[in-house]
Amino acid sequence: MALKGRVALVTGSTSGIGLGIARALAAEGADIVLNGFGDPAAIEQVRAGLAAEFPVRVGYDGADMSKAADIRRMIAETETKYGSLDILVNNAGIQFTANIEDFPSEKWDAIIAINLSAAFHATAAAVPGMKKRGFGRIINTASAHGLVASVQKAAYVAAKHGLVGLTKVTAIETANFGITANAICPGWVLTPLVQKQLEDRAAHDGTSVDAEKKAMLAETQPMHQFSSPEEIGALAVFLCSDAARTITGAPLSIDGGWVAH
Ligand code: NAD
Repeated sequence: MALKGRVALVTGSTSGIGLGIARALAAEGADIVLNGFGDPAAIEQVRAGLAAEFPVRVGYDGADMSKAADIRRMIAETETKYGSLDILVNNAGIQFTANIEDFPSEKWDAIIAINLSAAFHATAAAVPGMKKRGFGRIINTASAHGLVASVQKAAYVAAKHGLVGLTKVTAIETANFGITANAICPGWVLTPLVQKQLEDRAAHDGTSVDAEKKAMLAETQPMHQFSSPEEIGALAVFLCSDAARTITGAPLSIDGGWVAH
């Protein structure tokens, strides 16, 4: 229970990696504010399930991460309701794939807003309180695509590279306030976001999702295995620990060797 008494807000935590991170932080004793879209009854089931499993407070805020005012309201309300905001995980993200000449500009705007600008607004609103209290952990879910490119992902790759840059600036501005800011850069993690890409590929190529899983991994990862949300959660817990107090401004790959080759 290394994080007992800490308050953590994880954006985009109604499924996938965000939920894995929220679970891992709750298991270490942090109070959790969930965020994200989905069926209200299913979200309440996730919230109540976490609260039953771990001895922590678990709330939910439905802020739309494409809206600056909503994000800044959520940060302020979290601090008021829970008395603090110690761990901010900027994780919400969306994907869309198309060649650059066919990339719809509204998709570009949405990806930049949710995958990049949201982290700026949340960080800007959270840092003053963290500085005042002398403690903060900011974790940005970037991607291998924050470090290298793939075809048909102009907006996603631009947003994730931007997020790694934002992480570095946040880290050096807060370096002497007990705050760290780091970017987790996963390779492939089998979540709804990736499942959709697999289904699109299978439909396009007339193959199966299983065949596309193998092909997807073989294209980019020397290790032909998906990482799991639990493993990403374990890395987030480590970054929140005292042992990680001097790790800041770092893009941390958890990607089966993707960016190493
Ligand atoms: P996911 O689709 O399972 O989860 C995305 C979450 O973001 C959901 O909770 C969703 O409701 C939320 N979200 C989307 N738009 C939102 C909005 N406007 N406001 C609030 N919440 C919103 O996907 P995931 O794979 O778990 O992705 C989580 C993060 O991890 C993303 O930033 C993604 O880019 C990143 N990532 C994923 C992989 C992977 O292989 N799955 C790899 C590298 C990075």
